[in-house]
Amino acid sequence: MERRIAVERMTTLLQLAESEALQRHAGRARRYVELARKIGMRYNVRVPARFKRSFCKKCLAFLLPAVSARVRVGRGRIVVTCNTCGAVQRYPYRREQKARRAPRARAQ
Ligand SMILES: [Zn+2]
Repeated sequence: MERRIAVERMTTLLQLAESEALQRHAGRARRYVELARKIGMRYNVRVPARFKRSFCKKCLAFLLPAVSARVRVGRGRIVVTCNTCGAVQRYPYRREQKARRAPRARAQ
């Protein structure tokens, strides 16, 4: 029960972080991300999937492509660079690439 409330609070805080980031209030956005993560750690709850990649793992800045983050795609991965601290996060997308290369194999 407590954990369910924790998830709700985290989601609310992360939504607030997003709206602050969109208004270019980077400091407030970062603070909301920080609070959301603290709740998550206290109640052993993961960051909701939708927001998992939306902040810098190093400085907690909210990452908006072209505003506070640079996003590049290539060689089977997505590279996200934080414009605040320069940290780089890489995510694979090989599965999607494979599916595109052999669309018929996927249907079977
Ligand atoms: Zn950063």
